[in-house]
Amino acid sequence: MKKIILLFTLVLVLISCKSKKETSDNETSTKKPLNLASEYAPTINIKDVKKHIYKLASEEFEGRSTGEKGQKLAAKYLANQYSEFGVKEYSNNSYFQSIPISALTNKRRHYTPKNPSENVIAFIEGTEKPDEILVISSHYDHMGIENGELHPGADDNASGTTAVLEIAQAFAMAEKDGNGPKRSIMFVNFTGEERGLLGSKYFVTNPVAPLTNIVANLNIDMVGRVGKEHENDTNYVYVIGANRMSTELHNINEKANETYTKLNLDYTYNEESDPNRYYYRSDHYNFAKNGIPIIFYFNGVHIDYHKPTDTPDKINLELLTKRAKLVFYTAWEIANREERLIVDVE
Ligand SMILES: [Zn+2]
Repeated sequence: MKKIILLFTLVLVLISCKSKKETSDNETSTKKPLNLASEYAPTINIKDVKKHIYKLASEEFEGRSTGEKGQKLAAKYLANQYSEFGVKEYSNNSYFQSIPISALTNKRRHYTPKNPSENVIAFIEGTEKPDEILVISSHYDHMGIENGELHPGADDNASGTTAVLEIAQAFAMAEKDGNGPKRSIMFVNFTGEERGLLGSKYFVTNPVAPLTNIVANLNIDMVGRVGKEHENDTNYVYVIGANRMSTELHNINEKANETYTKLNLDYTYNEESDPNRYYYRSDHYNFAKNGIPIIFYFNGVHIDYHKPTDTPDKINLELLTKRAKLVFYTAWEIANREERLIVDVE
């Protein structure tokens, strides 16, 4: 009997040791600290950035005007890239959210596209909180050919679209290593932005997932150049909107930058009194309107803004790469932290 009791005790001790070990292993594997992100950030690099920028702003894509051939070729290019990275389509086995002409007509601007158009949507499902979604976005449309002149839109917004692709690739590599994000991440490239934020308007009025599930939107529009106010400081990015709804979101972005990218974060255009009103002028605003915290990353306007001279050779590839990394690190923390971002500012 004594022997049996001894054996029983031994088994109990062994079981409790084993379960303790499992808990601690689990803890380290689910924590996903910010520094794990730095293993994947190097995949966001100048070589890839150059490839995407030159492709998106190429003559072949004809300035990517909404509903036209060049925009559709660009959409296909984006879908192919996501597919190569291993980032899947969100619904109906398609990367495209089709938008009818009626939803792309802007009466105020007397604008109607020739054809329907499409947002491009790719998705990585969260490992622990799949219903909570971080949206990382850019518009990929531009002005097309006007008065016989090609508007390549390299900065506006092949640059932001390139950044979204590179960030998607980094998260896809992490996922392959078993380090996929806790929350889901949706990568969205909007059409119709230049005609009045029409693609993002359609996205929030015909949501593919409930809007209440979207924890934040990081929107990237023009990040490849140095604006006219920054000729003496080229290591910067304008950050707009970060603190307007969530103090945490502002702090996360600050900390990611302090730790890794060390850009000068310029909040000039975040002032509510700023006459440029950029907070209302790109796709993130359609999220903000719906109570979703946003950050808008932006380099400011320059001499080639909305001109045929917005060409890829003028893009600062190194700066674009660094700015994309800042968005990646911020996204990593939002997607992997324990609690959902708190909306604390009215
Ligand atoms: Zn733009």
